Amino acid sequence: LGIAVGGAMFTLMGMQSKSPEMPPKDKTDQKVEKLLKKMTLEEKVGQMTQVTLEVISVGEGTAVASPHQLDEEKMRKMIVDYKVGSILNCAGMPHSKERWNEMISKMQEMATKQTRLGIPIIYGIDAIHGTNYTTGSTLFPQQVGLAATWNTELVEQAAELCAYETRASSIPWNFSPVLDLGIDPRWPRQWEGFGEDPYLSSEMGVAMVKGFEGDQLDKYHVASCLKHYIGYGAPQSGKDRTPAWIPERMMYELFVPAFKKAIDAGSRTIMINSGEVNGVPVHASHKLLTTLLRDELGFEGVAVTDWYDIWNLVERHHVAKDKKEAVKLAVLAGVDMSMVPYDVEFADLLIELVKEGTITEERIDLSVRRILKLKYELGLFENPVTNLADYKDFGSDKFIGIAKDAATESITLLKNNKNVLPLNKTAKVLVTGPNANSMRTLNGGWSYTWQGDRTDEFAKDKQTVLEAIQAKIGTENVLFEQGVQYVAGADYKTDEIVDINAVLDAADKADVILLCLGENSYTEKPGDLNDLTLSSNQIRLAQAAASTGTPVVLLLNEGRPRIINGFEGEMDAILQAFLPGNEGGVAIADILFGDANPSGKLPYTYPRNVNDLVPYYHKFSENLAHNDGNEYTDPFFNPQYEFGFGLSYTTFEYSDLKLAQKEINKNGELEVSIKLTNTGNREGKEVVQLYTTDLVASITPSVKRLKAFQKVALKAGESKTVTFSIPAKDLSFIGLENKPVLEEGTFKVTVGNLTEEFELVNSL
Ligand code: BGC
Repeated sequence: LGIAVGGAMFTLMGMQSKSPEMPPKDKTDQKVEKLLKKMTLEEKVGQMTQVTLEVISVGEGTAVASPHQLDEEKMRKMIVDYKVGSILNCAGMPHSKERWNEMISKMQEMATKQTRLGIPIIYGIDAIHGTNYTTGSTLFPQQVGLAATWNTELVEQAAELCAYETRASSIPWNFSPVLDLGIDPRWPRQWEGFGEDPYLSSEMGVAMVKGFEGDQLDKYHVASCLKHYIGYGAPQSGKDRTPAWIPERMMYELFVPAFKKAIDAGSRTIMINSGEVNGVPVHASHKLLTTLLRDELGFEGVAVTDWYDIWNLVERHHVAKDKKEAVKLAVLAGVDMSMVPYDVEFADLLIELVKEGTITEERIDLSVRRILKLKYELGLFENPVTNLADYKDFGSDKFIGIAKDAATESITLLKNNKNVLPLNKTAKVLVTGPNANSMRTLNGGWSYTWQGDRTDEFAKDKQTVLEAIQAKIGTENVLFEQGVQYVAGADYKTDEIVDINAVLDAADKADVILLCLGENSYTEKPGDLNDLTLSSNQIRLAQAAASTGTPVVLLLNEGRPRIINGFEGEMDAILQAFLPGNEGGVAIADILFGDANPSGKLPYTYPRNVNDLVPYYHKFSENLAHNDGNEYTDPFFNPQYEFGFGLSYTTFEYSDLKLAQKEINKNGELEVSIKLTNTGNREGKEVVQLYTTDLVASITPSVKRLKAFQKVALKAGESKTVTFSIPAKDLSFIGLENKPVLEEGTFKVTVGNLTEEFELVNSL
């Protein structure tokens, strides 16, 4: 199926968005074309192949100390014989940056000196909250925590430092950020994304892409990778990699925006959703991988599969009868590179498919062009490995300071009865709970290892919550009784009672109890859960603590909001720390004792009950006041804490909400100003959030939608006027035709506790 446009042939089967005869755009394109002309089919297909290499242990000892090396025989077979273009995630364990450089130098030496054309490999890794597979690197909060900072500048900076340390490890490609919406807390990867809101996720995603890629991909920047395109975060069962059903309207309204903005910000690669959407595995979906991604969203970079996912078209999804059919489906759908990841059968089968004419060589060229272009842009042809002398700031105090700032700004104060917090530094504190003394729980998954289960070994020099409190107020003022502990070696879900009576006894001697609850580290399938309620042992500990009469401060350290409704009312103060990373312990201690003022805000709705998993942008019919003449008293939308919620040790007052005009043209801008005053007696930061409501629309509107925000720092007593300018087109919604529509009518603006109405009109 082809149509001629201006003499060039465009196929609608999605293989080409651009004509193959189009003249190369710039110098890089010219280099790409020149190289491509020299390549054999085998060399081209090699570029589309990404494999991992196993580590062979060659001695005794711990993972850090044990001598181990990559399987060099396999390395040579892959790189020299099969000419694979990319390697990922070797080892599954952390290495020093020096060791990374040695390993990658060896790979690059083979690729650039022992192959005919000398094309460097591109190494990719999940450096998702800092360079988390390199020892001594700076570990930041996980994305859910970064989102809770609502501070895009800080997030961009964190990403930039992560790029620096990743590049210092000779790794130029980072499988980050995750742009899947965290609408459903049952999904075990909610913490890897920026929460439930498309606007917040878009702003954060853009900040991260800019931080990773910089203005250009110089030696301090890496290629970003938008994950997991698209619809991955919404499996109907809540279980990882299970089917999602997403009406097209919802796809455009909720899931496309963050990807669209990050693509527009220049992100160079995307990774494909392992799951299926509307009955079609995304890896086989031409509609999603070509029509939407290339033709509509204008993505020109590299689309890589997720782990093993072409084979999963056979083994998990049953849409291909064998591996060959799977390769055909995936490549014709739009895959550029296969994360195979263990062997080279993908390459062999793809060559066969081209030789027999099922897939054209032009289709192969399209992908290879994208991959080569990325390698040129990353400077890999000139500098396939890093010169470590250029990276003196790796792990520096400056970097650690930014990680601490990010952790501090992420921590969210959810409750503070009678101003229990901040604590007095002379107070005697009983620290208890399974999350009190663990670097593993502070960091979550993807920390040194995939499941983050060995973090205490690798982050020995960092402070847990207990250690940071001891350092701040003196060991003599801190009592520690764990009460409940995670079971070593078991899966992350299992915890056990240690000694509740010891906690009760210690409480008698304490002025306050710090109850550290939450989750142990996990990610992906192993993180699937059958009940969102916090574990029964932890609830028992909470109830015991509350029964003592000593004030209880609950510290939540969890990847997703676990239900705490059963005992929340008995807690005097609650802090949500999310997964704050290696500086989390210190940041938490600063906040507990008032050396820092909390300024985080929830990036998701904290549900009250397991059956009430409804985002803040729910519909009016899901709202609390359900007044249709019947006596329905059930609160449909009644979360434990709302999206965007978070307290401070100071108070802020919103006043003077003003709209520049009461009528706004559809091509115009909504100009809003608000005065914010710090009415308390200490400095603090507030996130001013602007929501709009379309009061009547042809498709049932949401009760509100976030359209803008700004994080503002104010001294005690200080006021600032904050202004926003929102293009009227941002008030559109996806209509019945699955296209944005902008309808006239009355809208409401909400900022803080203030609201104003305005009219959207066709013309003025
Ligand atoms: C995950 C991806 C990750 C990839 C490579 C997959 O299992 O879904 O997020 O980037 O592995 O490590």
